[in-house]
Amino acid sequence: MDEIRKLFARHNQVSEGLFSYNSAGACPKCGGKGVIELNLSFMDNAEVECPLCSGARYDPDVLSYRLKGRNIVEIMDMAIEEAFSFFNDAKISSKLANVQNEAWAIYRWGNRLTLFPAVKASA
Ligand SMILES: [Zn+2]
Repeated sequence: MDEIRKLFARHNQVSEGLFSYNSAGACPKCGGKGVIELNLSFMDNAEVECPLCSGARYDPDVLSYRLKGRNIVEIMDMAIEEAFSFFNDAKISSKLANVQNEAWAIYRWGNRLTLFPAVKASA
């Protein structure tokens, strides 16, 4: 969410791109993928968790920046209800409300979006 990145950037007085793993904030080892692909000649390609960022995708330096005591990964991993009270910000709350209305989901706004199968009322 852009609002979150902006808040982080403003609060820490650094570039907004640092708080995006597909931009300047990407882990230098895995390039923001969180995994490293192993090319072993004797077996199929395999992926392992990136040893530098431990799958967090961000440059470890970026994780030293905090907003209200939490780093970007911790915040992006919050449950939505927790985020409401954490930010207590009208603009962010309205975005969160949209998300909550749209998705039948436990939504963790990083990249892990767990969707429940749509439940249809049986007639
Ligand atoms: Zn990495």
